[in-house]
Amino acid sequence: MTNAPELTQVTTVEQAAQAKGEIRAGGTDFQDRRRHQVSSGPIVDIHRLPGLSAIDWDERGAARIGTLTTLTTIASDPRLRDAYPGLAQAAGGLATPQIRAMATLGGSLLQRSRCWYARHPEFRCYQRGGDRCFARDGEHEHGVVFDTSPCVHPHPSTMGMALIGYEALVEVNGAQWRTMEQLYGDGSDPTRDHRLEEGELLTTVQLPPPVAGERAAYFRAIQRREAEWAIVEAMTRLCVQDGVITFARVTVGAVARVPRRLKHVEAALIGQPPTAVTLEQAAALATAGPAPCHTPSTRCASFAARFLRPSSERRSAVHPGRPVDRLAGDQQRIPGVRELACQRDLLSAAHRRRHKERCGRVRGHPRVFSGKPDWKHSRPSGTTSRPGGRTPRSSSNRTRRPPA
Ligand SMILES: Cc1cc2nc3c(=O)[nH]c(=O)nc-3n(C[C@H](O)[C@H](O)[C@H](O)COP(=O)(O)OP(=O)(O)OC[C@H]3O[C@@H](n4cnc5c(N)ncnc54)[C@H](O)[C@@H]3O)c2cc1C
Ligand code: SF4
Repeated sequence: MTNAPELTQVTTVEQAAQAKGEIRAGGTDFQDRRRHQVSSGPIVDIHRLPGLSAIDWDERGAARIGTLTTLTTIASDPRLRDAYPGLAQAAGGLATPQIRAMATLGGSLLQRSRCWYARHPEFRCYQRGGDRCFARDGEHEHGVVFDTSPCVHPHPSTMGMALIGYEALVEVNGAQWRTMEQLYGDGSDPTRDHRLEEGELLTTVQLPPPVAGERAAYFRAIQRREAEWAIVEAMTRLCVQDGVITFARVTVGAVARVPRRLKHVEAALIGQPPTAVTLEQAAALATAGPAPCHTPSTRCASFAARFLRPSSERRSAVHPGRPVDRLAGDQQRIPGVRELACQRDLLSAAHRRRHKERCGRVRGHPRVFSGKPDWKHSRPSGTTSRPGGRTPRSSSNRTRRPPA
């Protein structure tokens, strides 16, 4: 006798909507939760559902992407890269080539929280039917910067952040259209990561027509070289005409219960000349109003003083007067990334101190990457672990051993 869960292979959207069980697309997040025994029951496999892995273009030049399209396809499609550069960069900058080859657009948008408590079978927090958040009083090193919900783990979806910046619509069950904001809600509900109900299948993502002359960049801070969820990530789209910024979209991910569009930063950019001063002023607004979980503001201020100065000096690649479209093009500077990354440092500081007491060595500070691996500094061939130490714990292997 076998304990294998019931598996339904569906061939139409109607079948998928009626079938009872949890949807599996590429399976990269789904299988991880099954392995950690935080998901069980029947499986509805949509991986071979026909018609959902195409990219179509309408007469306005706008793309319609099926939700079974893999992230590799989105990252490498030449027409998408041209029309929606920020989206393609985001798809190519997350996870690893192997994951991107399996992961689908729909699964990427609907992946569940990476919180180590929620991914351990013995912790029943809000996300798993319980009535408390263990992270709030426990380990919340990777917790939110914008504390807006009883749950303090940020939304993990890079593609969600990028699609909010592109003001995309998602199609549910091949029939209704919703905005990205409707898909995720305002993040105040601690029990769920998105607002799809059972029996609702994400079928297509509709992008608006491309904006002429757009330059865009995706940027992330990550705790190790690659293969990790971001500590903070941002995507910026800009148009510059006659020496003035005419169009701006700034979104950030991994800092709140849902990916956020920073409209006040956009407003500070539009109508301004594209100089480093404008960028600095707009970037300074990125953290306006955040309430980092469990970090008293006085500690924020003192850490900010220590962290902001050296990091801004290190990244002095921004020279006054340098045109913003070139900066966006070479990804040297995205408004808000550094400031948000520094906020995240504040949250990490207490954890690093405890780690040093326990292990006698300091944990590395987050490093900022543009999504591309830094091959120059990669590990020498033949070595299997970091020189002088064990492989650092990542969000993924951390889930196997929850904190006491
Ligand atoms: C090492 C590593 C690093 C990673 N780094 C990042 C990162 O930086 N940023 C990031 O965003 N992700 C990251 N990921 C996560 C990865 O992107 C997701 O696991 C992947 O996108 C999920 O896609 P999938 O098709 O495998 O989804 P699945 O695992 O099959 O499904 C995920 C969830 O979505 C639901 N679902 C899937 N498709 C549909 C649909 N069409 N309609 C309704 N529900 C659906 C499923 O029920 C399930 O709950 C990383 C993963 C790993 C292993
Ligand atoms: S942060 Fe959210 S997912 Fe993590 S323990 Fe708290 S309620 Fe659960």
